Amino acid sequence: MQVTRATFNDVMVPNYNPAAMVPVRGEGSRVWDQDGREYIDFAGGIAVNVLGHCHPGLVSALTEQGNKLWHLSNVFTNEPALRLAKKLTDATFADKVYFANSGAEANEAALKLARRFALDNFGEQKSEIISFKQGFHGRTFFTVTVGGQPAYSDGFGPKPGDIVHSEYNNLEMLSEFISDKTCAVMMEPMQGEGGIIVPDLSFVEGVRALCDKHNALLIFDEVQSGMGRTGALYEYINLGVTPDILTTAKSLGGGFPIGAMLTTDNVAAALAAGTHGSTYGGNPLACAVAEKALDIINTPDVFEGVKRKEALFREKLHEINDKYRVFTEIRGKGMLLGSALSNDYQGKARDFMVAANEQNLMCLIAGANVVRFAPSLIIPDEDIIEGLTRFERGIASLVAK
Ligand SMILES: *Cc1c(COP(=O)(O)O)cnc(C)c1O
Repeated sequence: MQVTRATFNDVMVPNYNPAAMVPVRGEGSRVWDQDGREYIDFAGGIAVNVLGHCHPGLVSALTEQGNKLWHLSNVFTNEPALRLAKKLTDATFADKVYFANSGAEANEAALKLARRFALDNFGEQKSEIISFKQGFHGRTFFTVTVGGQPAYSDGFGPKPGDIVHSEYNNLEMLSEFISDKTCAVMMEPMQGEGGIIVPDLSFVEGVRALCDKHNALLIFDEVQSGMGRTGALYEYINLGVTPDILTTAKSLGGGFPIGAMLTTDNVAAALAAGTHGSTYGGNPLACAVAEKALDIINTPDVFEGVKRKEALFREKLHEINDKYRVFTEIRGKGMLLGSALSNDYQGKARDFMVAANEQNLMCLIAGANVVRFAPSLIIPDEDIIEGLTRFERGIASLVAK
């Protein structure tokens, strides 16, 4: 059967507007479309393909498990899930793990856990959730309402209640909102979708202190920042500020859908048998791939490589900007970087992405004013240099218009 981009408009719900070309194959940081055109991938499936496309280690983990056991449900546990949970708890502050299939589901579990923990330990008056403007936590109705972009949560009827939005990097405002009625504060330790916003360390430390003062749980959404992307396994390790609950997805499966919520023994106790669940959560295929991804990523070599590649990326982006003056700032950390557009190009991030695509480069945007790069953590230096050469060509064509 012949399918093309035009088929999308015929048979797909119109909630997405994908690019004109249809990718069919990937290898490392390169992708090929239906016409055999080759692209360099700085998008990484939106910060997912953490080891590039079809990494041999992940392919063999998937095929090995694929020949053994695909699915059981949570009526039974399975070896890949148990091994992955053991490795995640060994590598982090956490004692316990809950598996889901996506970032939104991991966050949904985190929010429900925080509400139940507060109810069990303090009473029903403690139900307020505080999160931050421009934050993003997924698209289920609870998580999208906790997210800080009303445009995403409006228009679906009455929203889940008792959710307050404060300003990111504004400790003063949070200290006015937070009280003993607050059950949790949810934040990204670096905002991704909201524009690659790196918080001040004093802000993050202050959030932790305010949560302690008011017996509120601190939830770090590391769905985008986690799994080595910022040069540590999780960004909380870089910051030296430990949450009570951490959510991880995207890069966790390196392209296979999986999410996880990590927490302490004390907090986990609130999700007693029967309180929450998922048919696919802890699926053996997903856990086998994620276990392999974790084995490969959680090494000093990979983290050092991420830092070196960040420096190369920044150097080349600054060189481009010296010529074209299109960015005000290169920000972010590790392999999650954003180029903030100058005044003349406000609202035009999508034009940059399209221009890059025309030069055979895949990249992302983070809001209307930031071009985002989330490539593989092990992207070869030659691909960074060649990709940014293509990006520069895209900018040259855009600036000439
Ligand atoms: C992408 C993202 C999510 C949602 O993950 P899905 O897998 O799309 O549900 C949640 N939080 C953050 C910080 C994200 O970047």
